[in-house]
Amino acid sequence: MVDTETLKKVFEENPNKSSIAIKSECADCGCEVIVNITITSGGFGLQGGVLLKCLPSGFMVKCPDCYKVGSNYAFKE
Ligand SMILES: [Zn+2]
Repeated sequence: MVDTETLKKVFEENPNKSSIAIKSECADCGCEVIVNITITSGGFGLQGGVLLKCLPSGFMVKCPDCYKVGSNYAFKE
């Protein structure tokens, strides 16, 4: 899972947004995944999937079915 520093950077690159959607393919099953990242009072929230790694080409993501711990995640700072 990516860390909060990485998520912070994503928002620094998009300073006018309070939520950002990242579209990619699930690293396990290859299905299309759209992960919505939102700023919450305590950090960040992820919906629709998880971000595993930050690659030069973008993020490595997994869909909720493959990650299997639910579809909502909260990052706390
Ligand atoms: Zn999958």
